[in-house]
Amino acid sequence: MISQPAILIIYTGGTIGMMMDSESGALQPFDFGHLYDQIPEIKKFKCKIDNISFDPIIDSSDMEPGIWVRIANIIEENYDSYDGFVILHGSDTMAYTASALSFMLENLSKPVILTGSQLPIGMIRTDGKENIITAIEIAAATKDGRAIVPEVCIYFEYQLYRGNRTHKYNAEHFEAFRSVNYPVLAEAGVEIKYNHRAIHKDKNHEFRIFTNMDANVASLKLFPGIQKQYIKSVLNIKGLKGLVLETFGSGNALTGQWFLEEIREAIKNGLIIFNVSQCRGGSVKMGQYETSLGLRKAGVLSGYDITYEAAITKMMYLFGNNYSHARIKKYLQTPLRGEMTV
Ligand code: ASP
Repeated sequence: MISQPAILIIYTGGTIGMMMDSESGALQPFDFGHLYDQIPEIKKFKCKIDNISFDPIIDSSDMEPGIWVRIANIIEENYDSYDGFVILHGSDTMAYTASALSFMLENLSKPVILTGSQLPIGMIRTDGKENIITAIEIAAATKDGRAIVPEVCIYFEYQLYRGNRTHKYNAEHFEAFRSVNYPVLAEAGVEIKYNHRAIHKDKNHEFRIFTNMDANVASLKLFPGIQKQYIKSVLNIKGLKGLVLETFGSGNALTGQWFLEEIREAIKNGLIIFNVSQCRGGSVKMGQYETSLGLRKAGVLSGYDITYEAAITKMMYLFGNNYSHARIKKYLQTPLRGEMTV
């Protein structure tokens, strides 16, 4: 029986963990052995806080499925000993990691909160301190003995988001993330106000991790003037199983017969094509315009309002499960972790 909440911080890298070296002035990775010296406020939490640091730490641009597996393994190994997890991660690919983990951590009933910062923790105006402190508070928050937010989330600049609904939209503002198609799960002001109705409730199944992500996926972003040669080369990548087709508006594409013929042929050869809009807000509605009817008739699947990040990682997850074609198609169009609204 754990008397006070126990939180595990997993530090993967990114700007947040940088300190200014007092002699050289260069940014160096933060020494987590001295977490309490760097952020003394953490001592005030009535929590047991431990941390694990990646060695070497990585800039999140180097993130890849093997590292998601490492994170998932750390969470699994420590799942029974901690009440919540805070993952410190570079912001650049944080939305991908949050999306991937939302699928890989099956039957999650504890909070997994990713956070980072735009300015290093060692700089006076850093946004990192507030982000870490509130992420810990959210990871430890319970009501009637249960975690308030048993989801994979991103906490950034006073907002808590469902991780697989986010994208990084600004490289400079402290408010770097958006969740355009789903409400925030909590807002931190004087108090942390939880949006209980938007938060997923766990069903008490046994927690387990999925580690066989299959990266044989690709994306094709349409643009006016796109050439047949280019489309053909993407559709014919050897071993490709799934393609995110980034379409216009509500899921529209060119109507030229040559284009639809290429799409039909690829689908006939076994490629699964998932229609995700280049617009970050709103939903794909295939059939609303003639420009998407052809895609639907060809067998392209609707991604509804899923983010690009969630679409890519959901495909990796489903292909890794070795499901039949029919099941993959069904699951792609079914919300598995609240990643889409159909
Ligand atoms: N390039 C950094 C990273 O994603 C930026 C950040 O930490 O926000 O790792």
